[in-house]
Amino acid sequence: EKAALAKFVGKPSQTADGHVVELVANIGGPDEAAGVLEKDGEGVGLFRTEFLFMESNDVPSEESQFEAYKKVAETLEGKPVIIRTLDIGGDKALPYLGLPTEENPFLGFRAVRFCLQRPEIYKPQLRALLRASAFGKIRIMVPLVTCVDELRAVKALIEEIKGELDAEGIAYDKDIEVGVMMETAAASLIADILAKEADFFSIGTNDLTGYTMAADRGNPDVAYLYSAYNPAVLRSIKNIIGAANKEGIMAGMCGEAASDPLLVPVLLAFGLNEFSVSATAILATRKVMSLWTMDECKALADEVMQLETEKEVKELLQERARS
Ligand code: PEP
Ligand code: MG
Repeated sequence: EKAALAKFVGKPSQTADGHVVELVANIGGPDEAAGVLEKDGEGVGLFRTEFLFMESNDVPSEESQFEAYKKVAETLEGKPVIIRTLDIGGDKALPYLGLPTEENPFLGFRAVRFCLQRPEIYKPQLRALLRASAFGKIRIMVPLVTCVDELRAVKALIEEIKGELDAEGIAYDKDIEVGVMMETAAASLIADILAKEADFFSIGTNDLTGYTMAADRGNPDVAYLYSAYNPAVLRSIKNIIGAANKEGIMAGMCGEAASDPLLVPVLLAFGLNEFSVSATAILATRKVMSLWTMDECKALADEVMQLETEKEVKELLQERARS
């Protein structure tokens, strides 16, 4: 298997008929950046910055964040690096923030909601990201967006910081892209609105599945509902990609579904441009892509979208799987 995958090293990520997409990787810290290149990733599609915050006993300084983001940008040598701003709350607690205990943490004060209300924490992160953008191709991604106001507020904060950096004579990428992590049912339903103001989308299927199905993956009694093969989740993904394609912005995916060999042809058919997977899944995902023509992907997706249950979808995909 390993030898069979080796022949995909250095090859473009494309279907059998030459439809090229981007195949990038998810990382949790600056030390994982080199591994992405070793595994032949074409960039970073998700840098989860929470870990910088979780490893520390206090909010990491702008300077230490700057060093971490710069290191990733430099290691990737100009390849795209999508850095997600602090996605705290829900299952990811930060004791030193002293946040109140919530009855429904997954529906509560977290991610962009928390960041916008705590600019003394958010601004240093955005400043560090902007400063690091002078050293590579950094893109900023906003987690858990549910309404366009949140995207606008983050963009306004970024503009404010750009003004400060200009005044201080500090370099940054003036064209830095700001994208939305599409991982709530609300974001999916207003994908057309968000696509007009976002520079890119990246679909977080881990949360999108949970928030669409109203099912907690960690609860064994409802875990049977937690599956991206549900028609509801597939329709949501298709809608998000369609909205991005229509506005001509990148449609990416950084949730686990992006490397599911059963789903890859369906995602290609929907028009997904970027697949962000764990570094160890890069070559296997590139191989799966190479086994399908776009016409075959589309025929499969058409069939799948007519099915009515998760079980039917899964069984059809398993029956058609190629390896
Ligand atoms: C997701 O929700 O799909 C995702 C990639 O983010 P995380 O798993 O960090 O919530
Ligand atoms: Mg998420």
